[in-house]
Amino acid sequence: MTGLVTLVGAGPGDAGLLTLRGLHALQEADVIVADRLGARSVLDQLAAEGVVLAAEVIDVGKLPGHHKVSQDGINALLVQLAADGKRVVRLKGGDPFVFGRGREEQLFCEQAGVAVEVVPGVTSAVSVPAVAGIPLTHRGISTSFTVVSAHDQIERLPGGADHTVVLLMGVNTLGHSAHVLADGARGADCPVAIIEDGYGENERVTIGTLGTIAHLAATRQVRSPAVVVVGDVVRLSPHAASLPASQPAPTPRARWFEAMDAGLAVDTGLSRAIDSTLDYVI
Ligand code: SAH
Repeated sequence: MTGLVTLVGAGPGDAGLLTLRGLHALQEADVIVADRLGARSVLDQLAAEGVVLAAEVIDVGKLPGHHKVSQDGINALLVQLAADGKRVVRLKGGDPFVFGRGREEQLFCEQAGVAVEVVPGVTSAVSVPAVAGIPLTHRGISTSFTVVSAHDQIERLPGGADHTVVLLMGVNTLGHSAHVLADGARGADCPVAIIEDGYGENERVTIGTLGTIAHLAATRQVRSPAVVVVGDVVRLSPHAASLPASQPAPTPRARWFEAMDAGLAVDTGLSRAIDSTLDYVI
């Protein structure tokens, strides 16, 4: 068997965000098996920029929840093309290993004796929030993030507004997700951004809170594909000016008074130590 399958991440849909290694793989390919989301538009943009690809393009039309060719059909096609001695690029939106079933396709090919290379791509989870000026981490605001598939209803997630949550495939389940995420340390005032069709013609940003976002999304008829970002990093977006000011974390003094109310602050040493910090916190 002489063929080779290269899984290439196409990025979020802008040809400028395809990697150089991915472009080289496309240029060397005999056949490109492309998803619709992200991948097709990258090929169209390359053509528009005068990049000539010799490969035949097979559109397997894969959108979330809507597959023109079944996953089994795609797996079989990749193996068949490689068995015919073709250099095959499997072009997938974003990164092949982020909710992309890339590893499944790789294993299927390898079990059939077909060699597979993987070229990572720029995932929409990180790059689409950037469209709205939202970093997933920011010093003093968020030091961690979680990327979740919200294709099915999400479970509760630990952390507060200082832990960024990114929902992919989250439009249909948005109401449920917002409810679940608000029911914890984040609360209903936690900021939310929805970025639809990042880098595409229908790119649009919607900003709200966990309490308002489902209603806003329905009013504005938000559509897939979209990335949902939850957390205080959303405040950094230039689109977020309308958000109510954040509730500051309680100061040491406020915590001390709360403790007094609760009858807990009986150690005068502790109260002196807190008093000495008051100049800094008021
Ligand atoms: N492997 C892909 C994700 C596949 S799941 C990646 O790494 O990006 C498909 C989901 O990705 C969509 O439902 C949407 O949530 C998100 N997505 C992909 N491209 C997008 C884009 N250009 N704009 C907004 N969301 C996008």
